[in-house]
Amino acid sequence: MHKAPAIIILGPGSLATAQRIQQRYPQAVIHGLSGRVEGVDQTYASFGDTLRALYQQDTPIIALCAAGIVIRSLACVLSEKGVEPPVLAVAEDGSAVVPLLGGLSGVNVMAREIGEALGVAAAITTSGELRFGTCLLNPPQGYALADIEQGKRFVSDLLAGETVRVEGAAPWLDQAQLPASESARRTIHVGHQARASSRDELLIHPRSVVVGVDTADLQGIRAALKDAGIAEQSLACLLASEHAMADAALHEAAQALGVALRFAAKPGDLRGMVAQALPDAQLIEQANAVIAVASAPVDAERIGRRRGRLAVIGLGPGAAELMVPAVKAELARAQDILGYETYVRMAGPFRADQVQHCTDNREEMQRARHAFELAAQGRSVVVVSSGDPGVFAMAAAVLEALHASSDPAWQRVDLEILPGVSASLATAAQAGAPLGHDFCVMSLSDNLKPWSVIEHRLDLAAQADLVLAFYNPISRSRPWQLGRALEIVRQHRDGNTPVVLGRDIGRPGQTLKVVSLAELVPEMVDMRTMVLLGSSTTCQFPKADGTPWVYTPRWYPSAE
Ligand code: SAH
Repeated sequence: MHKAPAIIILGPGSLATAQRIQQRYPQAVIHGLSGRVEGVDQTYASFGDTLRALYQQDTPIIALCAAGIVIRSLACVLSEKGVEPPVLAVAEDGSAVVPLLGGLSGVNVMAREIGEALGVAAAITTSGELRFGTCLLNPPQGYALADIEQGKRFVSDLLAGETVRVEGAAPWLDQAQLPASESARRTIHVGHQARASSRDELLIHPRSVVVGVDTADLQGIRAALKDAGIAEQSLACLLASEHAMADAALHEAAQALGVALRFAAKPGDLRGMVAQALPDAQLIEQANAVIAVASAPVDAERIGRRRGRLAVIGLGPGAAELMVPAVKAELARAQDILGYETYVRMAGPFRADQVQHCTDNREEMQRARHAFELAAQGRSVVVVSSGDPGVFAMAAAVLEALHASSDPAWQRVDLEILPGVSASLATAAQAGAPLGHDFCVMSLSDNLKPWSVIEHRLDLAAQADLVLAFYNPISRSRPWQLGRALEIVRQHRDGNTPVVLGRDIGRPGQTLKVVSLAELVPEMVDMRTMVLLGSSTTCQFPKADGTPWVYTPRWYPSAE
């Protein structure tokens, strides 16, 4: 199945058309040029980079602009092997739909669907498709063409006047205008068996086979299929016992075979598990596998369930450009999003099918457990932190919850932590390079640790002449702690030491201030501020606009 399409627009003039297309594909995401259009799902800075990235991620692209712009933007990635998603250009007023690329991934089908939604005819240019009313090389979902090169020859033979007959069940061809004849030499053969390739035959495999395995590697699965005379392309999915959910070899095998890996409870033997999942299929028992052959394509989504995934992600400080691409991709695939409301909102917008679970900032352990419960059911779950999830944020809470749990279903969840740009790094970058030499990161919050520990660490870190990065420097419920912390630091550090105060960095209304340690008072700081306090070598000099660059040199004076 294809990913949700991306609808790309350049200006407000095409938003209405984009929205009509989105009604046809409710999962589609409208991308608008930042600063030019309001009311889009996502913004981008560079049209070309965005288009190329989407193309390389195999995302169908519907660009509301001149076909030429799309062609020029994608030209340099076209020769790369691998993906070719559907790419279409649509006139911004919706008067023309031009399929450009992805003939084998259904671009003409999409062009017709969009044309229908906009009330115009799609500009189909594919000969076979025009003549036969269907693209023989692009069978519908649930079927796979055995050999594309052979297929191209086959279609050109038909275009040259050969007749054809259909062997097996090909319901989608009932509507096609094929040059059919009972005595034809050419056949379209639909079946799950492996067959030698022949110039006279267009071989199409229904994805009607499921292989049930306990634990097996790629070779074992391939051997089982081969022994049963079944074509690999007929495979719809692998089915394994849920106890094998974390088995790496199985996941690798499924990936190499390009199919989903599904799991079911296995109360008895393997045969029983497979029979339960596919009650009407014919079963073939092999050494380490039970193969089920159904009479029609199998929808893998309906067989057992998938392995749940839990990703703990960092949004970065706030600005979309500072969010790492892996996090963006994770947010797009998420079914459930958990987190403190402010961060969940920052991570959005979300589609209607994505469930948001907003909670209070303090309910971290409860949130972590909730995330595991959802993921253990097979859902794709994201827990959102700002900055980096491993820096005073959710990743440690999630691991603590897992460590404390004896639930095997939690242990089997596909857990991943995806990093983000932490506030100290984002603030440092704006100020220059205050963290250019050794530094120490501390949270000044005594909610989860005794204040005496904080004082002790501050004293040692200041004595060691480390640059100090303070997270959670102050809050309404912790009004005096920062003042006390500064007293300790001042015992070891000069009043001239530069201090960087970054507030709401990467967010609307951000401010960056540089003051001296002598000038610094707690009133300058709030809970949305990052404090970077220099070492003895941290220095500053004015930029052209008069504001300072702050940096800590990479060298350190020797001790004599
Ligand atoms: N995981 C986060 C930190 C969470 S602790 C990260 O890696 O950035 C929360 C503290 O981080 C706040 O009290 C503040 O000191 C700092 N902080 C988070 N985002 C910030 C931002 N955009 N600008 C300045 N400080 C920020």
